[in-house]
Amino acid sequence: RKFIFVTGGVMSGLGKGITAASTGRLLSNAGFDVTAVKIDPYLNVDAGTMNPYQHGEVYVLKDGGEVDLDLGNYERFLGVDMTSDHNVTTGKTYQHVIEKERAGDYLGKTVQIIPHITDDIKRRIREAAEGTDVCIVEVGGTVGDIEGMPYLEALRQFAHEEDDGDILFTHVTLVPYSKNGEQKTKPTQHSVKELRSIGLQPDILVGRCENELEPKTKEKIALFCDVPTEAVFSNADVEDVYHVPLMVEEEGLDQYVMERLNLDSEALPPEER
Ligand code: ADP
Repeated sequence: RKFIFVTGGVMSGLGKGITAASTGRLLSNAGFDVTAVKIDPYLNVDAGTMNPYQHGEVYVLKDGGEVDLDLGNYERFLGVDMTSDHNVTTGKTYQHVIEKERAGDYLGKTVQIIPHITDDIKRRIREAAEGTDVCIVEVGGTVGDIEGMPYLEALRQFAHEEDDGDILFTHVTLVPYSKNGEQKTKPTQHSVKELRSIGLQPDILVGRCENELEPKTKEKIALFCDVPTEAVFSNADVEDVYHVPLMVEEEGLDQYVMERLNLDSEALPPEER
């Protein structure tokens, strides 16, 4: 099974969810069974009690789960039904670990973020991915947030436990324009530096920008962030977010992901291709 971890840098609301869902859509078009997990690093157990003015509407799943709106994007982009298990929150994780602690399941051990919380996070991701070819895991929030740390640590461990060719890290950042109309890569460089300081090296960088990234912007990002230039993609502003999969397909994101993950759609039975 393959996993694509999607993190975001610089600021939230960049289009991390849309980038993740678009990647999933393209892999699903290629014939793979794709699912997604949304990680929300808040302490609420679910989105059901959250103020829609602050958080956006609550999305209700078929199993009654009250979750983040992003799950709606995944259901629409991927054409699959999700369950509450596809939305991992800090509230759910801690509640479960604390209940186990009260029941004496840890046999007197000191219960800690590492390994107990991180183990529970990894378990949830693996369980949600069962029966699929590819699982896209989006980490809510921005790299560097205190709340997100246990998740990024869990993903680091996860990548260490799985085979090299089965994991891909995609990092979505902002590429703003300077006053003189230049695409600036410094915020991307800083956010990748932050990722690396916790032991994560992105494989793919997606720059959210008003326009497509210029070749020299891609080259600069590649050089400073230690990825090949072919691994840098644009997520430019579009009128309609349903155009994003087509836009990233044109840049070859799906081909690159399949190559890196050794996903061969030719190997699938013809009816699934
Ligand atoms: P994040 O997951 O980074 O918080 P989302 O994927 O939820 O961001 O996107 C934030 C907002 O930006 C959403 O309203 C989404 O529809 C919009 N958006 C995402 N990508 C694009 C794009 N390429 N062009 C225009 N709007 C976009």
